[in-house]
Amino acid sequence: MTGNKILIIEDNQLNLELATDLLAANGFVVSSARTAEEGLRMARELLPDLVLMDFSLPGMDGLCATKDLKADPATRHLTVVGLTAHAMKGDEQIALNAGCDGYLTKPIDTRTFVATVKNFIAPANLRQTNK
Ligand code: MN
Repeated sequence: MTGNKILIIEDNQLNLELATDLLAANGFVVSSARTAEEGLRMARELLPDLVLMDFSLPGMDGLCATKDLKADPATRHLTVVGLTAHAMKGDEQIALNAGCDGYLTKPIDTRTFVATVKNFIAPANLRQTNK
């Protein structure tokens, strides 16, 4: 797990710093983008093991960006986990419909965040081994 690359696309500075600190402290190599446009460019360049995608972003939103990644043969294998502040019924379905592999609700729970992220990466590693 150590050394796995995670790209965080999040425009909220506090959430971005919190997620980055938690993941970096656990050995992940973390990159970040503040907009979907920048995040898409970085995802194509870095091909990270996991993309944490805030849904509410300035300009293009995270759902559109996820659809973009999942429509592109070069990036459709990337694991994308949505980050949403709306813990509303139906949000999970919206996230999955956009192509997300899962989603996390904000505020970030510091006690469970890293373990949850690791759980999303584990099946992705398996998938790449089997490719
Ligand atoms: Mn946001």
